[in-house]
Amino acid sequence: MTTKPAAAAARATVYGYPRQGQSRELKKAIEGHWKGRVTADFLRETAAGLRRSNWRQLAAAGVDEVPTGDFSYYDHVLDTTVMVGAIPERHRAAVEADALGGYFAMARGTQDVAPLEMTKWFDTNYHYLVPELGPDTVFTADSAKQVAELEEAHALGLTARPVLVGPVTYLLLSKPAPGVPADFDPLTLLDRLLPVYAEVLADLRAAGAGWVQLDEPALVQDRTPAELNAAARAYRDLGALTDRPKLLVASYFDRLGEALPVLAKAPVEGLALDFTERAAANLDALAAVGGLPGKRLVAGVVNGRNIWVNDLSASLTTLGTLLGLADRVDVAASCSLLHVPLDAAAERDIDPQILRWLAFARQKTAEVVTLAKGLTRGTGAIAAQLAANKVDLASRANSPITRDPAVRARAEAVTDADTRRAQPYPERATAQRAHLGLPLLPTTTIGSFPQTAELRTARADLRAGRIDTGAYEERIRTEIQEVLAFQEKAGLDVLVHGEPERNDMVQYFAEQLTGYLATQHGWVQSYGTRYVRPPILAGDISRPEPMTVRWTAYAQSLASRPVKGMLTGPVTMLAWSFVRDDQPLGDTARQVALALRDEVNDLETAGTSVIQVDEPALRETLPLRAADHTAYLAWATEAFRLTTAGVRPDTQIHTHMCYAEFGDIVQAIDDLDADVISLEAARSHMQVARELAAHGYPREAGPGVYDIHSPRVPSAEEAADLLRTGLRAIPAERLWVNPDCGLKTRAWPETRTSLENLVTAARTVRAEL
Ligand code: GLN
Ligand code: ZN
Repeated sequence: MTTKPAAAAARATVYGYPRQGQSRELKKAIEGHWKGRVTADFLRETAAGLRRSNWRQLAAAGVDEVPTGDFSYYDHVLDTTVMVGAIPERHRAAVEADALGGYFAMARGTQDVAPLEMTKWFDTNYHYLVPELGPDTVFTADSAKQVAELEEAHALGLTARPVLVGPVTYLLLSKPAPGVPADFDPLTLLDRLLPVYAEVLADLRAAGAGWVQLDEPALVQDRTPAELNAAARAYRDLGALTDRPKLLVASYFDRLGEALPVLAKAPVEGLALDFTERAAANLDALAAVGGLPGKRLVAGVVNGRNIWVNDLSASLTTLGTLLGLADRVDVAASCSLLHVPLDAAAERDIDPQILRWLAFARQKTAEVVTLAKGLTRGTGAIAAQLAANKVDLASRANSPITRDPAVRARAEAVTDADTRRAQPYPERATAQRAHLGLPLLPTTTIGSFPQTAELRTARADLRAGRIDTGAYEERIRTEIQEVLAFQEKAGLDVLVHGEPERNDMVQYFAEQLTGYLATQHGWVQSYGTRYVRPPILAGDISRPEPMTVRWTAYAQSLASRPVKGMLTGPVTMLAWSFVRDDQPLGDTARQVALALRDEVNDLETAGTSVIQVDEPALRETLPLRAADHTAYLAWATEAFRLTTAGVRPDTQIHTHMCYAEFGDIVQAIDDLDADVISLEAARSHMQVARELAAHGYPREAGPGVYDIHSPRVPSAEEAADLLRTGLRAIPAERLWVNPDCGLKTRAWPETRTSLENLVTAARTVRAEL
């Protein structure tokens, strides 16, 4: 008889934790500091206190190895920029004079100096600050933050693992600095960067780090052979260092694909892989390379991006399979818990039964610990948790909230015909021209107008019970009157009601749709000190009653020209919410689309001839791997068409997109079959107009001529010049004149002048035709 050596006890760990604190203390301290009300010392103490309390919470929950270095005053990629000394030239003096002040200057800019550009962290709703590199970049190691935070955790008597953005991902997320040729490839700096990482690793080892985690999520995207070679070289070189801690290379958000064999072969001591649904292929791929003999595998089996309870028994099955593939298997969430709210137990307004389906950071940590225990000691050791979990999963699966037979029957009955307008575009265009009677180069706006102080006060008063709904709605009507009066006077052609009744373009609809949940405290960091509370798509979606019709109809009753109805599209409703994990995204999108379709049709019945369905998130939700794009775009564009196809040919459907380059989704934009699209374009000098033209886009388009991201007022001449540029790509019969996006973040004075200039520009250019 042989006795197997006892498997090593599985450790529980996470890669990062929400930074803000229970009551968003961090946000308050940082913003207070910006306003000069909070000293740097007080801010530092607040931050240190939050880190300590997070680590204590994690340790008390049973986490064996806590992460350090994941904390940030603003963004962990910016922290990495500081760590490697890649401070942009224009910020150097400020950083040298005052490290903290200079740090915030890089993040937010100052009166004189532009900040770093901000962009989305992979396909999450977190934004990072893009490093700016060039052939002259000199890297220097600054390990102070990493070392200090490790020492803080050690001082609490904890086993800690510093987490750093890995060198390959850091370079792949960078862009050429201003003035550097656009074709400069930051990856060519790898050999210069690695010695800096070597120095940081040595410092961390000297400070007592046993393991250091290097995050390489960029390797889950499609990578060229040259990029994969760079990854191989990076970890061969770092692995060959003698003065270093053990290295754990982490990836998440998707499958590693061709990067898996590269990392499996690398001379590092461990890999952390995502094993949640979207990365499920990692399991077979790991088996195919013969597992990780002699290595530590950290298995991300608890989804770090959704808010649903884990299926503990399914995760245990995965973990059991993995036991055969690595020397030791530890348990983790699939990615940093930064992307989920802190604590579901803080929610008071959610039905206790439904609350049991939800897991935020705190609950996910407990799941990780339970799974590690089950893996080490067998299911008997976690029998109670498994039984309770089974009950919760069954209650969710069988709930009338998640299964509304009427919604399901309707979604199943959708035919292709339901997703197609009755007439092809050219015929619709003729009908709409006759119906609307618009001039060439028609002017319009994207929907929202400045949210005034009176409006904000009224909203706060309503929430606090100081005024009733009647008084609040009176305020909304007044705002609508003012917005319409201005637009008529300014001479805009297609008007909007200004969206004063909306706090947020997704939340406003989520609150009115059955099947959506709102949280009270479910804050998630979007960027810096900005936190959002995404609603939760929890069940089957239906619309108990019209959502926007009465405000649009009211606005139309005041106007002599067409007022555009304004809705948020199905893809964006998903993208900025937490989505269901118990059915394909396309199914959820279809349910939302059907609810919105009813709204579109009701708007038409109420006399609205122009209806805009915003899809700013269409591009940003594109899957990380190109192989998955077709399937995504198929359901996404179908959902949009299902929303909009029920109207008459002479009703004009608009859509709107921003925040992105659109070059790679022009076909998808075409597939929406919207009559008119408005797009962000002012900063790129109408680039998108040329892209649409190159594709042969046959419909009408309004590339923005007014950059609404800054208070700067574009002159009429400047807007006219942009229009002339637009006309070189799009003929006058199909060109619209509008700002880049909504005006809700702007103030009235600059908005007024900018829109007046926009109308002047349209008139000037019309006269030249
Ligand atoms: N209609 C919305 C608005 O004007 C669109 C916002 C957006 O695209 N993000 O505010
Ligand atoms: Zn926009």
